[in-house]
Amino acid sequence: MAVVPFPHQEKRKELRAAVAALCAKFDLEYWDACDREHRFPEEFFRAFADAGYLSVLIPEEFGGGGGEMIDQVAVLEELAASGGGLNACSSVHIPMLCIPTLLAFGSREQCAEILPKVGAGELFVTFGVTEPDAGTDTTRITTKATPTDGGWLVNGTKVWNSGAMRGDKILLLARTSEHASGERKGNGLTLFLADLKADTVDIKEIPKIGRNAVASCEVFFRDHKVTPDQVVGEVGQGFYHLLHSLNGERLLISAEAIGLGRWAVEAATRYANERVVFGRPIGQNQSVQHPLAASYLKLLAAAEVVYSAVDQYQEKGGGAIGTLANAAKYLSSEAGFGACDDAMQSFGGYAYAREYHIGRHWTEARLQRIAPVNNQMVLNYVAERSLGLPRSY
Ligand SMILES: Cc1cc2nc3c(=O)[nH]c(=O)nc-3n(C[C@H](O)[C@H](O)[C@H](O)COP(=O)(O)OP(=O)(O)OC[C@H]3O[C@@H](n4cnc5c(N)ncnc54)[C@H](O)[C@@H]3O)c2cc1C
Repeated sequence: MAVVPFPHQEKRKELRAAVAALCAKFDLEYWDACDREHRFPEEFFRAFADAGYLSVLIPEEFGGGGGEMIDQVAVLEELAASGGGLNACSSVHIPMLCIPTLLAFGSREQCAEILPKVGAGELFVTFGVTEPDAGTDTTRITTKATPTDGGWLVNGTKVWNSGAMRGDKILLLARTSEHASGERKGNGLTLFLADLKADTVDIKEIPKIGRNAVASCEVFFRDHKVTPDQVVGEVGQGFYHLLHSLNGERLLISAEAIGLGRWAVEAATRYANERVVFGRPIGQNQSVQHPLAASYLKLLAAAEVVYSAVDQYQEKGGGAIGTLANAAKYLSSEAGFGACDDAMQSFGGYAYAREYHIGRHWTEARLQRIAPVNNQMVLNYVAERSLGLPRSY
């Protein structure tokens, strides 16, 4: 008997089936090879874009599908659940991140020029916020954009910029003015849609332990020119523009975590039924059954929260669902990693054989507790906003 699907998998059932059919063309060996060879999954990326799944959230007037958040999360969940995991999801999720920010704060000209190309997979925009010395404390970034004739010159270093080696442009957060004392800490930061392919930009891959189909990089800017038409939104307000889009991103990440967990529970259950030791399937032991059953329940509960957050997002908008979006991100990433970790135990020594693919999923699910926001920052938010405890940072 196959693992019984969760109730939320009834939502957008036909779309899910279509995504699964596309994903079936890219099997586990394909993803393992991309990961091992640090190779961007170009063939998959093209097929995904051609099927219209990159442009779900782009309005029809800008060449997109004009879909809703529930469509996009269903697509990403099925992608993760197919065995593509985060290698697959990140390759398509990264260029999607600029969409809500551009729609909310970009000019009409920027939307008309950029969004159709992003949706068609012709323009790859990365997300350039994190810096070595600022880490989670984004308002302390030091990359500076200094006024010059007809624009600014950017100097500084971004770190962990995923997709930079494949990227055409970067949604870059840089300081354009110091914030005066008494002002909000996020003032003075500006978002630019800057070019990545230039002599004034150097990119260096960071060797990492997983999700290697999409390289994450250090990006060095040396007197890199940006012009007023590359500013997204208001000069000095870029930090707040980004915050506006983060709750939507949390939902995408959450759906991916549920998909990763689903794949792990299914793979481990199949293995536990097949693997015979002591003359019986290992899945007959409660020590194997119980963690998998508990993982299934934790994923079920997390998915209910994720999809209720998606409903609220559609009804009230991203700005109104801070607690629910954070709850979805926390619960799904913990449940997704827990499921992968319990699956590792079920596979025994074979968990370490690449042939079984569970180790790859395990490192990817672990990443989701750290990035794009660590779960400690999520708990800080809930402690402050839901419990009324003093702000701790
Ligand atoms: C594979 C990968 C891809 C990434 N891709 C991108 C990308 O494309 N673009 C981008 O801009 N960034 C990207 N990031 C960066 C990611 O968003 C950051 O790593 C993350 O936000 C944490 O920053 P940090 O690593 O400097 O951790 P730090 O800020 O050094 O924090 C380390 C740990 O300390 C704890 N901590 C820190 N501050 C607090 C606090 N106030 N309260 C409680 N605990 C705290 C947390 O447990 C945290 O995990 C990526 C990271 C990885 C690993």
